[in-house]
Amino acid sequence: MKNNLPATLFLCFSLLITILNPLMAQETGFGYLNPTPTECVSLDERADIERQIKINQKRLVSEGKLQSKNSTVNVQLDWILRQKGVNDYAYYSISNYVDLDNTTGLRDYNCGTRTYDGHQGVDFFTFPFWWDKMDNSNVEVIAGAAGTIVYKSDGNFDRRCVNGNNGNWNAVYIQHADGTIAWYGHLKSGSPTTKAIGQTVEKGEYLGVVGSSGNSSGPHLHLEIKSSGGATIDPFSGTCNNIGSKWINQRAYSDSKLCKLMTHGLAPTPYPSCSVNPVDVVNEKTNFVTGERAYFAIYYRDQVSPQVSTHRIIKPNGTIWQQWTHQATNVSPYYSSYWYWSYFLPSDAGTWKFEVDYNGQTHETIFNVNTTFPCPKNYNIVNEINNATQKLEAVDFIASSNKIQLNSNITYDSGKRIILNPGFSVTNGSIFKAQIDGCGGN
Ligand SMILES: [Zn+2]
Repeated sequence: MKNNLPATLFLCFSLLITILNPLMAQETGFGYLNPTPTECVSLDERADIERQIKINQKRLVSEGKLQSKNSTVNVQLDWILRQKGVNDYAYYSISNYVDLDNTTGLRDYNCGTRTYDGHQGVDFFTFPFWWDKMDNSNVEVIAGAAGTIVYKSDGNFDRRCVNGNNGNWNAVYIQHADGTIAWYGHLKSGSPTTKAIGQTVEKGEYLGVVGSSGNSSGPHLHLEIKSSGGATIDPFSGTCNNIGSKWINQRAYSDSKLCKLMTHGLAPTPYPSCSVNPVDVVNEKTNFVTGERAYFAIYYRDQVSPQVSTHRIIKPNGTIWQQWTHQATNVSPYYSSYWYWSYFLPSDAGTWKFEVDYNGQTHETIFNVNTTFPCPKNYNIVNEINNATQKLEAVDFIASSNKIQLNSNITYDSGKRIILNPGFSVTNGSIFKAQIDGCGGN
């Protein structure tokens, strides 16, 4: 994946659409990201990997841990990603397939150009909120087939968001019974399996967490399959790669899904700009008060014209409060995209539902509306906090201008802002946490 992602990205943000549902929606917007491609593995890194694998193969054969003769059975792969701790409708998209064109042109297995020049693997990026998913280890890489670990690397920086000369990635390499080797690259640091080189893994076994180590512009898995002779194999089979699929169940080339519905307290920003330590500020919010603005966001992969979504916001008594439709008008699929609308909530207290029909399936998420503020609107903290364990929640903001000290454990949790003024400090073994969550959250 490539390094000029932020430019692509912020162009998208300039396309805020303000009047899509003019009657009620207060603020709407959208963005999309087709991660722009460049080299996932540098030539030096690739040469080093291939050299290390050869050395290890030789040793493992001599130790009786690897067969010297490969099985003639064609090993196929099961899926190589799974969610953990979350249950999104979909959680990844594909940014690049293998480039089958030996010249400077582009050709993927489907005779399309969803690749970059010389790409030897398949890139699966996580969505929405890829940094958040990485931080919470929400997307695990699992072995597509049983095999033997012939090499692995770990400990490399994993928050790369600009590509180019980034150094090595974290990766696990599994040799299958037929001699093919699967490379699982860009893993989160510290996540690769604790199993040693020479140990075996089962199909579906944990290998690591999707991260952004090495030449990467954001968290994604680079899956590369090598033949026993070292040639690149495109695991996908299609009109331009009619050799039989390496997948047990090959998934669609363009596989449009509604990934996730969310309610937020602020406009969502799922594509943060690149920085030394890029993070997602998710601002998910599921507890609101009457009159508060709620943002209703929908996250898609492979969205393309003329796909239509029908949205409904449903009151606690089951009646529809808002309903609107939206149609994608882009001709080329957005590999990932999001849309949001916001409304000021009325006084019907209870559990609400946000539903969206898309591709013949109804998706939903729930949220709560309270008629009274469950916590103060603001806190302005001017006194020292000593030896206390406390969580302070406010609807709008918490401002602080004094010390937290003497083994205190303090959390500020506000709906909009946390302001740390001059004089604020945390000392003497104290813990301070700040979160934008608002009343009643976690
Ligand atoms: Zn790649």
